[in-house]
Amino acid sequence: MGSPSLLPLETPSPAHICPFDQACSYLEQAARELQMDQGLLLILSNPRKVITVSIPVKLDSGEVQVLAGHRVQHSDVLGPYKGGIRYHPDVTLREVSALAMLMTWKCALLGIPYGGAKGGIALAPARYSAGELERITRRYTSELIKDIGPEVDIPAPDMGTSAREMAWMMDTYSVNVGHAVPGVVTGKPISIGGSRGRELATGRGVMITVREALAERGKSLVGARVVIQGFGNVGSGAALLLHKAGAKILAVSTGSGGIFTEAGLDIPSLKAYTAQNLKSLAGFPGAVPITNAQLLTLPCDVLIPAALENQITEENANQIQASIVAEAANGPVTLIADQALEARGVTVLPDILTNAGGVVVSYLEWVQGLSYVFWDEERVNREMEALMVQAYRQVTEQSKARQIPLRLAAYTLGVGRVAQALTDRGLYP
Ligand code: NAD
Repeated sequence: MGSPSLLPLETPSPAHICPFDQACSYLEQAARELQMDQGLLLILSNPRKVITVSIPVKLDSGEVQVLAGHRVQHSDVLGPYKGGIRYHPDVTLREVSALAMLMTWKCALLGIPYGGAKGGIALAPARYSAGELERITRRYTSELIKDIGPEVDIPAPDMGTSAREMAWMMDTYSVNVGHAVPGVVTGKPISIGGSRGRELATGRGVMITVREALAERGKSLVGARVVIQGFGNVGSGAALLLHKAGAKILAVSTGSGGIFTEAGLDIPSLKAYTAQNLKSLAGFPGAVPITNAQLLTLPCDVLIPAALENQITEENANQIQASIVAEAANGPVTLIADQALEARGVTVLPDILTNAGGVVVSYLEWVQGLSYVFWDEERVNREMEALMVQAYRQVTEQSKARQIPLRLAAYTLGVGRVAQALTDRGLYP
């Protein structure tokens, strides 16, 4: 690590791979490629604001628990902080900090006027009732009340959260400031100013990126053999849209394992099946059970990790049989695995490009809210597709021009734009 991190170390990642160190390594690679000034690198290596709050909650049983909630605001050089809220037992301050940094590069890469942030609470949502989750979300929001806002920091859903949590956040913020403020969050229900197309946006962006990558290789989505890890908002959305476009989804999984069929899964039926079976894939007719480890190494054209980080590591990178790995999750391929895949000629479509559809439609939701004019879904999808395709082309052109892998190309574009803006704004005081 060339640049010192000022981030506290008291919440080490449960995995041996520290996501924040990895994020800094990618930043340093981009800085080297761009021959960036060391002072700029030092500024960009550190989040601008790191917030940790206590969230006391009374459970339905009467017991009181205190949870730790984080919000890390990495950069607001290009606009308000923007980033999701994650509810997952493995959430740590360093993970949230890494994801906040990724958001900064992602927004800059897509050319949308936002900075980067991320939030999270270490909890397993399935262990809490809806009422408990509502109390946790509302208290977390009220603890952050001075640090968020439509011109300051705009949360959105991430793992373990959805439109429901965004509605609670919007309501809590609005009640506290005394009037309705729909623009404080994105990814909210359409009834309170959400955008059409937001729910499937990240999955749609994944589908578009994969489609462009296949087209560049003279291939089509029709008949492409696809394997997807994770069947939540992103994984199931990508599965549905890829299936609709003619791809064959051979396998999907959740945290408790996956299912596989050589003939390809009927995704609309599977979505209906999981909706009736508490999100479980088990027992879906015509498919056989498979572990997450087996799923990642299945022979296929496109592997889409859409669950957690650090899923493709030095241990399994050499067994990956896909020719394209599309990072729908944030950070699913470790730094060392990335190099191993690159050496074997496997194309990795980087997270800051592949999963950017969600933040693009969040931006379109914010724009619609600020102008009080709401678009139909067709327009939202069209505007989003234009930004995704433009970013995809810029990344591939940068990769060819500089003879560098797609991830480094994406980082040089994102980091370079933030560095330029920082230089133009100057260092205060
Ligand atoms: P989600 O909570 O809706 O779904 C997560 C899925 O992953 C679930 O199916 C869950 O069962 C599965 N999962 C959990 N642990 C697993 C494990 N150990 N092995 C395999 N599967 C496991 O979350 P999401 O919103 O779909 O987010 C998934 C990823 O996409 C995250 O990395 C998130 O940061 C990223 N992302 C999400 C969005 C968004 O708009 N929701 C946008 C950009 C990036």
